[in-house]
Amino acid sequence: MKRTVKLFIAAATLTILSCVSVYARSVRIGLEKNFYQSPSVEIADKGFELRVGDSKNYTMNLGSSVVKPLSKSYYDTGKKYASYNRAYDGMQQYIGNNCIPVLKDDGWHVYLAENCKADTSKMTHINTGGNCVVFSINGVNKYLVDGSGSAKVYGSDGIIDIAKGRYRGQIAFYRDEIGITPINILDVEEYLYGVVNSEMPSSWNIEALKAQAVAARTYTCASFGKEGVYDLCDTVHCQAYGGVDNETPESIAAVDATNGMEIYYDGMLINAVYFSSSGGVTQSSADAWGGSVDYLVSVPDNFETECMVWDRVLTKEELVKIPASKGYNIGVLKKLEATYTPNGYVKDLIFIGDKGDMAISNDSVRGAFSVLGQSLYSNNFKVHENEDGTYTLSGRGYGHGVGMSQYGAKGMAESGYGYVDILKHYYSGVTIE
Ligand SMILES: [Zn+2]
Repeated sequence: MKRTVKLFIAAATLTILSCVSVYARSVRIGLEKNFYQSPSVEIADKGFELRVGDSKNYTMNLGSSVVKPLSKSYYDTGKKYASYNRAYDGMQQYIGNNCIPVLKDDGWHVYLAENCKADTSKMTHINTGGNCVVFSINGVNKYLVDGSGSAKVYGSDGIIDIAKGRYRGQIAFYRDEIGITPINILDVEEYLYGVVNSEMPSSWNIEALKAQAVAARTYTCASFGKEGVYDLCDTVHCQAYGGVDNETPESIAAVDATNGMEIYYDGMLINAVYFSSSGGVTQSSADAWGGSVDYLVSVPDNFETECMVWDRVLTKEELVKIPASKGYNIGVLKKLEATYTPNGYVKDLIFIGDKGDMAISNDSVRGAFSVLGQSLYSNNFKVHENEDGTYTLSGRGYGHGVGMSQYGAKGMAESGYGYVDILKHYYSGVTIE
């Protein structure tokens, strides 16, 4: 899991509420990974229910459909119908005109195309846009949804299949200027079924999986509203989530065994950040991101049985592209130096040139290397100058190094520690409740 400094600060400054307060226990996940701003979304489900706004009007067994945004002009005939079938029947009186059933907040309507032959003098002219989407079957437009909120669909068996993934709960079709991003709205616990196995292999010890479930639950509940129209996205940017297709019996067991358990410090939900491996010691949030947090301090990570050990060899010509990418012309690189935190992580990486110097600090060091094709795995590394003038960065660990180490959790679980011990080790002074 990767998180940026910006996000961390945003999460830390939120008023952190418990899951059970205003938001009940549902969460809104933006399905960005496969669908971000898609021109259309396919519903592969054979039968589903459809709702809009707070409307109780819905219909079932609508059949596999393709959903697309629609911006066009129509006339609303003004008549209301109790169901899709009634609207379809009512449409027959306008036969010969281009017309279509429409689900609105107050029920089903019929829209006529702007160029229709019917008398439209008493009808309301409608410019669709905003949330309006069209559902088509086999290329034929069957109906519109034009409500004050997004169209929402539910699978008739509790799971909805939208072709590139199956999801519990409901799917809302959020529209913007470019396309549709589906939002999966579902129970927090059911969401976690599809998170735990995306963040940690199900073959790992169950106590490590339980620690992952509690950390992910805490992170979720502290993130409500983070991304605006949805709470979290489904990528590593927030928390990896793969829906029903990524659930395993072990991920479900880990979530169920810790149902509702969250991590608190001083009565508040913590910012439960985690990462892959540290290489022997975690770092404090103060050292990584510059904000001191009582429960995110450096702790020994002695139980990691495996961690990433990496080397990266770079020429001076490559290295000088890093200050350049930040807008600094330091001329020819003379020397690359590093200063270190007390725990051995890079504090400042200093580029010394014939025209000036430039430094990158703390966790920003990792991402700065993306301009050379790939970020560094961690900022837990040493700098060596080679005889041929190149530099070797020799590092350990993968990720930002703050909070729970996943490989460390695995090692602790294999040594007989339970999930509460694991969480209390990596998050200092917390309670699990
Ligand atoms: Zn995100």
